[in-house]
Amino acid sequence: MMFKNELDKPIIIVEELTKIYKMDSIELKALLNVSFNVYPGEFVSVMGPSGSGKSTLMNLLGCLDTPTSGRYFLDQQDVSKLKDNTLAAFRNKKIGFVFQNFNLLPKLDAFQNVELPLIYAGVSRAERYEIVKKLLKKVGLEDRIHHRPNQLSGGQTQRVAIARALVNNPSIILADEPTGNLDTHSGEEIMQIFQTLNDEGKTIILVTHEHDISLHTKRIIHFRDGQLVGDEKVENPVRAEDILQDYAKQKEKQELEESHLSPRN
Ligand code: ADP
Ligand code: MG
Repeated sequence: MMFKNELDKPIIIVEELTKIYKMDSIELKALLNVSFNVYPGEFVSVMGPSGSGKSTLMNLLGCLDTPTSGRYFLDQQDVSKLKDNTLAAFRNKKIGFVFQNFNLLPKLDAFQNVELPLIYAGVSRAERYEIVKKLLKKVGLEDRIHHRPNQLSGGQTQRVAIARALVNNPSIILADEPTGNLDTHSGEEIMQIFQTLNDEGKTIILVTHEHDISLHTKRIIHFRDGQLVGDEKVENPVRAEDILQDYAKQKEKQELEESHLSPRN
C-alpha cells in the first residue's frame, strides 16, 4: 500500500461500501463498492462532481447513516456491530464534524455553541469553561466569545464550528465542503486551522470541489457516479500560512501605492 506507515494500523477501513437509495421503484446507487484505507495522521481530500456520492460517503464514515452493503471499520471496530447507544458514544469520541452550512444554533453565542456537546457529555461547568476558552482561542476567536452566529462573518462562524467539532478531542475530523460558502481569504484561514490540526496529529478527511483547496491536503481521492476513480498523493501540499502571508504583503503594497496616489493638500 502506497500510504501505509508500517507502524500504524488504518484508522479507517472501508470495504466494498455500497449505498443504494430506494425511492418508489427507482434504485439510486449513491455509492458503489468503494474500498480504501486511511492511516492516522493523513489529510485526505475527497473530490468529485456534484451528486458523485461525497456526502453519502461522509455520512457513512461519520456513522450518521448505514450502508446497504460493505463493511466499515473505525479504529479497528466494525461499526455495524455496535448498538445505537454505544455507537453514538463511540462516534462522539472518535469523530468531529464540520459542515458547509456551519450547523450552529442561531440563538446561542460562540461560547454556548461550543459548550453544548460538553453539557451533553456531563462535563462540569468549570471544566467546560476551560475547554471552550482554549478552543476558541485556538481558532482565533477569543475576542468574539459572546457573538451569535449572525454577528459573525462566514469564516468566523466556520471557526466556531471547528472549535465545536474539537470539544471531545476526536482523532478524526470529517469536513463536508467547509470552505464552500466562504470567500478565498476566509477559506485559506480555515485551511490554515486544518493544517495546524493535522500537524498536531489529527486525521482529516475533507470534501471539496475546489482544486486549490485539495492541494492543501496530502492525498486526493476522486469520485464519479458513486465510484472511487482515483487516489493520488500530493507531493508538496500548499501551506495556507504562506498564501495568507502573500495576501498580507499584496495588501500592504496596494495600500502604500494608494497613499502615494491620493492628493495631499
Ligand atoms: P455529493 O455530495 O457528491 O454532491 P451526494 O452523496 O449528496 O453527492 O449524493 C449522491 C447521489 O445520491 C445523488 O444522486 C443524490 O441525489 C442521491 N441522494 C443523496 N441523498 C439521498 C437520499 N437521502 N435519498 C435519495 N437519494 C439521495
Ligand atoms: Mg455533498
